[in-house]
Amino acid sequence: MRIIALEEHCSTPAYIAEGMIKPVPSLAERSKRFGYQIFDELADIGPSRIKYMDASGIDVQVLSLVQPGSQNFDGAKALAISQDANDTMAEACRKYPGRFAGFATLPVSEPEVAVKELERCVNELGFKGALINGHQQGEFLDAKKFWPIFEAAEALDVPIYLHPTAPHPDAYKAYFDGYEELHRAGWGFMIDTSCHFLRIMFSGAFDAYPKLKFILGHLGEGLPFAMHRLDDHTRNAAKRKGLKKTALEYMRDNVWVTTSGNWYEPAFVCTMMAMGVDKILFAIDWPYEPNTAGMAFLNKLSISDGDREKIAHLNAEKLLKM
Ligand code: MN
Repeated sequence: MRIIALEEHCSTPAYIAEGMIKPVPSLAERSKRFGYQIFDELADIGPSRIKYMDASGIDVQVLSLVQPGSQNFDGAKALAISQDANDTMAEACRKYPGRFAGFATLPVSEPEVAVKELERCVNELGFKGALINGHQQGEFLDAKKFWPIFEAAEALDVPIYLHPTAPHPDAYKAYFDGYEELHRAGWGFMIDTSCHFLRIMFSGAFDAYPKLKFILGHLGEGLPFAMHRLDDHTRNAAKRKGLKKTALEYMRDNVWVTTSGNWYEPAFVCTMMAMGVDKILFAIDWPYEPNTAGMAFLNKLSISDGDREKIAHLNAEKLLKM
């Protein structure tokens, strides 16, 4: 069975030199548990990554620059960091044919420049979409100045993967001050990403760009669990706002989810019942999650072999045109 994994991160020497990713204590603890150094494996887009992929039977990784990506920068610096990452990932795609694909890193602070970079990545480098790391230094993408990025993604027919980053500073202060341990992957990432996505949904972006496709990781950042109640309590408000569809309809028409780092079958069952098997794609979240954990999860799910094939590669081949 071909395995395509969609949320697989890397770093580059230039990105590390900017101090954007450091071997912090939380990484050390997880590294010890997994038996490899997360910081080192992020930086490898070559032999070591391939070795770990082969050991677990992963055929293709869709690469993305690890969060916050170039979004902590403005102006020319944001573009330079983006181009460096995109060119580095494209080089790996060329060097290991069939083993890697790319999600573009975009200078989101400069939306018009981001559009050009997305077009370059898709048209010239063969990338499959873009991965955006949450809010843009405190601004959310429902703000219309960012919509040219949506327009370009729709025109290019590529998805935007909305990936977590550290929560908005005000949310951090209100919810996580004094509870630092909760603000990242344990809870805060899910809250920030789901709220951000709902702002985009309720802004009318999917009415303006009806074929725009979003991917959410971690089995949908909690939305499959909550989307019926969300729909029930926002139907009238959505109509008053002039939205053309309900929340459930946007979830059906515009959203795909991946399995990244959420190895919990009850959550998976909920996601499959809520979203349908055609909307679920496989992802690990390498190297923050071990390939072995993701593959063990996929293989033991109580689903038909046909559904397993859809999640493992068929859905990704269709969505990403691979
Ligand atoms: Mn991730």
